[in-house]
Amino acid sequence: MGRAKTDSFVVEIPLRVSPSQEKQLLARLEAARQVYNACLGESLKRLDLLRQSKAYQAARKMTKGKARTRAFRDPNAAVSFREYDLHAYAKQFNHCWIGDHLDINTIQKLATRVFKAVQQYGFGKRGRPRFKGRNQMDTVEGKSNASGIRWRETHVEWLGLDLQAVIDRDDPVIAHGLSSRVKYVRLVRRKINGRNRFYVQLVCEGQPYQKPRNQVGEGSVGLDLGPSTIAVVGEREAFLTQFCSKLETRNQEIRRRQRHLDRQRRANNADNYNPDGTVKPGPKVWHKSARQRRTEAKLAELHRKRAAHRKSLHGQLVNRILRMGNWFKLEKVSYRAFQRRFGRSVGMRAPGTFVRQLKRKAESAGAEVDEFPTRTTRLSQTCHNCGTVAKKPLSQRWHVCDCGIVAQRDLYSAFLAMCVEGEELNADRAREAWSGVDALLQAALSDIQPTSGRRLPSSFGLSGRRQSGSPVEANVNASKAQDVVPPPVQAVGEFEKARWTVRTP
Ligand SMILES: [Zn+2]
Repeated sequence: MGRAKTDSFVVEIPLRVSPSQEKQLLARLEAARQVYNACLGESLKRLDLLRQSKAYQAARKMTKGKARTRAFRDPNAAVSFREYDLHAYAKQFNHCWIGDHLDINTIQKLATRVFKAVQQYGFGKRGRPRFKGRNQMDTVEGKSNASGIRWRETHVEWLGLDLQAVIDRDDPVIAHGLSSRVKYVRLVRRKINGRNRFYVQLVCEGQPYQKPRNQVGEGSVGLDLGPSTIAVVGEREAFLTQFCSKLETRNQEIRRRQRHLDRQRRANNADNYNPDGTVKPGPKVWHKSARQRRTEAKLAELHRKRAAHRKSLHGQLVNRILRMGNWFKLEKVSYRAFQRRFGRSVGMRAPGTFVRQLKRKAESAGAEVDEFPTRTTRLSQTCHNCGTVAKKPLSQRWHVCDCGIVAQRDLYSAFLAMCVEGEELNADRAREAWSGVDALLQAALSDIQPTSGRRLPSSFGLSGRRQSGSPVEANVNASKAQDVVPPPVQAVGEFEKARWTVRTP
């Protein structure tokens, strides 16, 4: 508190850990888990008390502002729902067996982590934090590089442990991190292929290393994110692509394993199911065979790989977009609502995470990201040329206006986003830029190549028009656009529902 905040970035380096060190580290992670769960139970209890307090309820009804913030202070103090109260609570763990495994800084940092999670939950911004089960604690961190978990040139020192890092000196990213001041150190455990791997994350002061080829460009760039596509239009380049389409094959594999696991679970616990395949009510004992455990491990590994793959696809896309300009504009979308409407495949692509990453990287490179509200701009309904505002059904993938403007819908939205200034469409600018951009959009469409052996998603609206250049009639398009159009609730139907209740326990 009170200390000026500086920028930070993280550099991750793998550690070489001997079997005996691994054993010690796992014991420490287990100790950390106990502290985490204890603090979580305590602060959830305090949050409950806080919610019952009259002063708190009165403060909640006030309008936002300094007075309201001040009004919260007393009720918070009355039930000790403050970060430092939780530190005081966590101090006791330093005087029991846990004190042999964790230093006081690490314990306090755990308390801080819990407090922040519970606070966000209290604000309604995040879900209720969960207690961590066995083997689910994966990170611990120190407070500063002076005591507790410390980084020393080539290794990590922590309460008698000396963990050697595997440093790739030729990697400019790591070299840059090692030459920066280390604020504090985090240890991370990852379960890769059933084994524990340990990494050190140095939280350094300053800006992250920027590869020369990833430097930001210049000019405005408009983005349009659909449930499965992304369109990006800049002043010199435009593209339309499927968002994380390469994750599809991984999904299929995961789905296969899940079905395998389900069959095994049923075979091992036949008594727990009704004849129609649903799970019997009441308390039950579930058995797991060795083979089922193996399938579970395989599945966990597949999930991990998919997450890593997604992260790298996001990173590549972000870098590509950053090279196109330094002022990025997109509609402000609730990606949660997105996911609710378009289903699990959107959640798997994680568009919200992608936008967060774009913002973070753009900011650290000195570029700007503007998210404007959909309500004032109504980009998907507007024609920049004649100013007509007409609603288009989602199935209509082309913007075709009587004034002669014809463009693929997503690319056109991205173009309009590029011309938004101060939360409103600057029509003059759009008219001026259109002649140049029109050609870019044509080029973007002709660049689209289906990934080997796959059809293009119908949302591109390209079926049957690749060569001719004229849009297909709307109704033909609509029938093929299942990709993007959410099924109406009625259409899911009884048949689907029945099938699902039978298949999932
Ligand atoms: Zn028009």
